[in-house]
Amino acid sequence: MNLIYDVVIIGSGPAGMAAGIYAKRAGLAVVILEKTGISGGQVLSTYEVDNYPGLPMSNGFDLSEKFREHAEHLGVEIKAAAVERIEDRGETKLLYTEDETYETRTVILATGAEHAKLGVPGEEELTGMGVSYCATCDGAFFRGRTVAVIGGGDVAVEDAIFLARGCEKVYLIHRREELRAAKILQDALMKLPNVEILWNCELKEIQGEDQVENLLIYNNKTQQTNPLAVSGVFIAVGNVPNTDLVKGLVDMDEKGYIIADETCATSVPGIFAAGDVRTKQLRQIITAAADGANAVTSVEQFMLK
Ligand code: NAP
Repeated sequence: MNLIYDVVIIGSGPAGMAAGIYAKRAGLAVVILEKTGISGGQVLSTYEVDNYPGLPMSNGFDLSEKFREHAEHLGVEIKAAAVERIEDRGETKLLYTEDETYETRTVILATGAEHAKLGVPGEEELTGMGVSYCATCDGAFFRGRTVAVIGGGDVAVEDAIFLARGCEKVYLIHRREELRAAKILQDALMKLPNVEILWNCELKEIQGEDQVENLLIYNNKTQQTNPLAVSGVFIAVGNVPNTDLVKGLVDMDEKGYIIADETCATSVPGIFAAGDVRTKQLRQIITAAADGANAVTSVEQFMLK
């Protein structure tokens, strides 16, 4: 058993890293546990971050590195360990990983969210063979080819813009006739000659032998289904929170987000939720980082009780 920590932070994206920085500066005994041993969360695969104050046009990977360097510079301990179970013992919590058990007075859940799947035929079978959830990771494989992006949010539009730089043609396939993405992204997208938006269209099936070859696209206005030949399809239809670990332990909403307000307090005393994993209006790097700071303030107040 490891020593009793004041706070164990699970997850090392912007929320977890900010929490680590605030906890260390508050003099708390803290460790950050990260599942993959790579910090950054979703920011890692963001090509360009242009809305974090003071750091315009940052590369997501570099920004993650900066968060980590900052935390390490302050002496925050960051360990690669996947928490498998949390036991609430009241005064302390026990966190079980494969090799070790951590005892802590408080926990900050900063486990983030991951890409949602569409659940259409061919999606699972062809993942990694033309089906991708990360344009910045896999886009280079489709240089000079025709690809499709599914979705109408910030990520879908950013992906389409990114892919248009190297691909011959990019179809953006969206189920409505209005994009959800920020206006600045929409304006940039509309200027690109090799992007075509298919409005009111839904992906129904992905076809191909060992590689994506064809999509079946249903137009919900005309109610017609047509094939579309592409070499790759990038699915950007939002996120699902990483909350399996705490199912049945803390209260969640119908989508699986942990119910917590700006104090980051969950339904269990001593367990806090920060970043994309909690119920909130806006899921961005800046709001995740803000949560990290707020969660630590709540931890400090909790420990004074
Ligand atoms: P999102 O904003 O939730 O957008 C998801 C998109 O996928 C929506 O257009 C939605 O359509 C569509 N969609 C959802 N389920 C679908 C389905 N079953 N079939 C077809 N289409 C479906 O998600 P996101 O783009 O991944 O962004 C996630 C969060 O990160 C957002 O808060 C976003 O603002 C933030 N983000 C911000 C930036 C930035 O500020 N630069 C960059 C990246 C991400 P509808 O529009 O019809 O609902």
